[in-house]
Amino acid sequence: MFNSLSDRLTATFKNLRGKGRLSEADVDATIREIRRALLDADVALPVVRAFTGRIRERALSEEVSSALNPGQQVVKVVNEELVDILGGQTRRLNYAKRPPTVIMLAGLQGAGKTTLAGKLAHWLKSEGHRPMLVAADLQRPNAVNQLEIVGERAGAFVYAPEPGNGIGDPVQVATDSLEVAKSKLHDVVIVDTAGRLGIDKELMQQAADIRTAVSPDEVLFVIDAMIGQDAVKTAEAFLEGVDFTGVVLSKLDGDSRGGAALSVAEVTGKPIMFASTGESMKEFEQFHPDRMADRILDMGDILTLIEQAEKNFDEKETAKLQKKVEAGEDFDLNDFLTQMSGLKKMGSMKKMLGMMPGMSQYKDQLENFDEREVDRVEAIVRSMTPAERTNPKILNGSRRSRIAKGAGTTVSAVNQLMERFTQAQKMMRGMTRGGGAPGAGGGGG
Ligand code: GDP
Repeated sequence: MFNSLSDRLTATFKNLRGKGRLSEADVDATIREIRRALLDADVALPVVRAFTGRIRERALSEEVSSALNPGQQVVKVVNEELVDILGGQTRRLNYAKRPPTVIMLAGLQGAGKTTLAGKLAHWLKSEGHRPMLVAADLQRPNAVNQLEIVGERAGAFVYAPEPGNGIGDPVQVATDSLEVAKSKLHDVVIVDTAGRLGIDKELMQQAADIRTAVSPDEVLFVIDAMIGQDAVKTAEAFLEGVDFTGVVLSKLDGDSRGGAALSVAEVTGKPIMFASTGESMKEFEQFHPDRMADRILDMGDILTLIEQAEKNFDEKETAKLQKKVEAGEDFDLNDFLTQMSGLKKMGSMKKMLGMMPGMSQYKDQLENFDEREVDRVEAIVRSMTPAERTNPKILNGSRRSRIAKGAGTTVSAVNQLMERFTQAQKMMRGMTRGGGAPGAGGGGG
């Protein structure tokens, strides 16, 4: 699900990586890419406009956190806006104070209501409830039968008019079901209603009548995520005709481009509460806007990582370092030590690397990563004098072997570290020149 949208957005952010500063033109180019990716994913135009507008404004005005580079900052803003557009906080089911809780399902024919009724019952059972299913879809000849099959799979009682009694009155069936639930001690009643292939007045009226008759605690509007741009129109019609309290996205497992998910909550102002991701009972989940946004951005756990960085990096130290680098002064081993202890505070390096997006392909190398490597490097730097840390060039052969002994390691490990450090230093110099920071003109040639 969301694969192509996810790929597109990830590619967009790749272009920002390594940029020292973002100009307005960088931001605009990024916004253009995001807009295209969203439109191609079938997100409704007004939603795309509002979304990109907010991102642009925030990307240009937000205070820059010293723990993040500008690219990460944009990713963070996009992520937060995605969470928002998907409904913000996770919305849980409202249960009636006095059972039974009544959940009514509405939506077009084929949206996945009957399948969902079973999944919901299955899930409610796992949560310790005693759900009952009600067949108030008497339009389709086979609907009652289908609900009975689904109910059996979920292990839930199904209340339906006797077969062979002709077409009953769905409003009456729904009304009667509440008494049945009370007498049979079912604490949740799920009312499956009829759908039509298109939006029609009669269907809306029937659903509205059922709603009035049973005063449900939740009315869930079930929508097929594959219908793309039509999702918004359908959702608006149901909002006006029946009104609902929450949205369920079905068929998110298909090659749905995800536009419905991103449009419906924003346009209707109603939260997405569940997602249905397959035909079996278990392929059903509570919808968490934050986790879905992470999936869309292929974030790995990058946000957790960002939060940890923000918490653990010493702002003052980082600012000092930034000033130093911008003034064209060299990044030295003292700075290196400070950064390293910041990194260490963030926890296991292996775990941290594992949280980076795209790292799953390096699983094997990660497995072999030796946590003690960081400690070894730190031990070497700590064995140097402050003067040596400021100017490692003064380290001669005999000092290197003394340091190796002090750190409990070999001279070649010390040499290796020095080599890596010199490279890092060169890179920092290159960055300040490339970044065009004021005062970086010196630096030498
Ligand atoms: P209803 O008319 O709204 O009650 O829709 P149904 O529950 O009968 O579902 C219509 C079709 O979609 C059936 O063939 C279901 O098996 C299928 N379906 C429902 N939910 C999902 C889902 O999450 N994923 C997939 N792949 N198919 C689904």
